[in-house]
Formats: sequence, structure tokens, C-alpha cells
Amino acid sequence: MTNDFSDMHAVITGGSSGIGLATARLLLDGGARVAICGRDQNRLSQAADTLDGDGRLLTVTCDVLDAAEVGAFADQVRDAFGKLDLLVNNAGQARMSTFAETSDQDWHDELELKFFSVIYPTRAFLPLLEKSDNGAIVCVNSLLARQPERYMAATSAARAGVLNLTRSLASEFAPQSIRVNTVLLGLIESGQWQRRYNDQAEPGETFETWSGKIAKDRAIPLGRLGKPEEAARAVVFLGTPQSSYSTGTTLDVSGGLARHV
Ligand code: NDP
Repeated sequence: MTNDFSDMHAVITGGSSGIGLATARLLLDGGARVAICGRDQNRLSQAADTLDGDGRLLTVTCDVLDAAEVGAFADQVRDAFGKLDLLVNNAGQARMSTFAETSDQDWHDELELKFFSVIYPTRAFLPLLEKSDNGAIVCVNSLLARQPERYMAATSAARAGVLNLTRSLASEFAPQSIRVNTVLLGLIESGQWQRRYNDQAEPGETFETWSGKIAKDRAIPLGRLGKPEEAARAVVFLGTPQSSYSTGTTLDVSGGLARHV
């Protein structure tokens, strides 16, 4: 196992916060050249300020649901890097609603977000990945793909569909030696959970107390939410030759939350 990524070029969608940002940090610390995107320029700049890029970081404002913007992002990466070894399809967020609470528009929005946040970047960056000897795609997905929750009906269904798509991509791209794998997350501290804490916590309640109650309510066996770095390490394992004989597979990062064997 190595932490030397100095010959790697990586793209992380949604790299300005949470798991994407932690993944960018891990790869940059190992010497990789990394491009991150997000919709909000300020958030991207603030994220870049926290990273020790040393001229190896490219930040691009891009909505992954806009095919033209994703194409322009790929052009910038081609001009800067010339090739790509790793694409991390990470951008997104969850939708909290039961089936009864989910409108038709919500369904369209959720299915569009989950599918096209994988489809557009994968299509745009494939020609660059084909130039690599160690091409890999990692899709950041959720345990919900296999273990739906009633308060996340649309997200769970969309996640299952994307997991199925990932398996198709793995088969289709294997002849080009591009591996495609998935991280299945449980509850990971990130921008999403910070926003929920801001909305829901009692006055004076710390994030640790608030998230500890959630871990207890959800009966997470390890008794806590995961850290973004813990998810990032799984992404990096699947996205580098450390996992060179694995494709079409999943890695669970859920603190034991998965009920299936
Ligand atoms: P954060 O909110 O911390 O980060 C999300 C990132 O995605 C931000 O950089 C955000 O930037 C970017 N983003 C969101 N939508 C778009 C878009 N349309 N185009 C480009 N960038 C976008 O969340 P997490 O780190 O938690 O989430 C990362 C991934 O992990 C998501 O796909 C999420 O659904 C998934 N996940 C997270 C879990 C968790 O418990 N944290 C559990 C299961 C899955 P900006 O808003 O500026 O665009």
C-alpha cells in the first residue's frame, strides 16, 4: 500500500465540501494533480484555501447536471493534465421525503440528479481516462441503494438504479482497463449533515451531542457518524491501483449499518 500518488491525475465532482474535499486533500497530500468542481465559486475558493495544492489543484465552476458545463470542465482538464487516471462521481445530495411526500417534480429532479451526475461526467471524461494505464471511476453512492429507508424513498430508488448502472459501466469499460467501483456510505459528517444540524439542533446543542443522538436512533453499531476522511480513504483505495483487480464492486463505509450479509 502506498500514499504516493505523484503520477496520478484525478477529477472529483463536488470537491468543495465534505467527502469530495477530503478526497481531494488525500490525493493532493500524496502528490497527485487534482481538479475539483462545484456550482458555487465562493465555496470552491474557500475549499482551495484549505488545500495544500502547490500548483497541482485546478478548481472549475461547473454544475454536473449541465452537459455543456461538464464538457467545458473536461476541456480544461485535458488542457491542464493531458490525461486522467481517476474520475470520482461524488457531486450531489440526498432528498428526505417519504413516497407520499414526493411530488412528480421531486421524482424527476431526484432521478435526474442521481443519474446524470454520473452520466455526463463519465461520458465527458472517458476519452481522457482511456489515455491512462490505470483508469478508474469511483461512484460515491449510499447504503440506501441496497437498504432503502422509508423517509428517503426517491433517493433510495435512484441510488439502486445508479448502482445497477455502475455495474454496466464496469463491464463495458473493462476491455479498456478502466475499472468502475462504488463506495456505499452510511451517515458521514459533511456539509449536508452540518446543514441539518443548523436546522434541527436544540439551542446550545453541540454537533457531537446532536449527531450522537442520531447514531443512537439509527442504531449504528460503531456508535457514531463517519468522518469524511474515512469515506475518502475508501474512494482512494478503489480509485488507485491499490485495488487493481477489483471492478464492478462495492465497498461499505457505514459503521456496520448494513443489515444484509
Ligand atoms: P456536501 O454537501 O458536503 O458536498 C457536496 C458537494 O457537491 C459540494 O462540493 C457541492 O458544491 C457539490 N455539488 C452538489 N450538487 C452539485 C452539482 N449539481 N454540480 C456540481 N457540484 C455539486 O455533501 P457530502 O460530502 O455528504 O456528499 C458527497 C456525496 O456523498 C453526495 O453525492 C451525497 O449524496 C453522497 N452521500 C453522502 C452521505 C453522507 O452521509 N454524507 C451518505 C450517502 C451518500 P456546490 O453546492 O457549490 O455545488
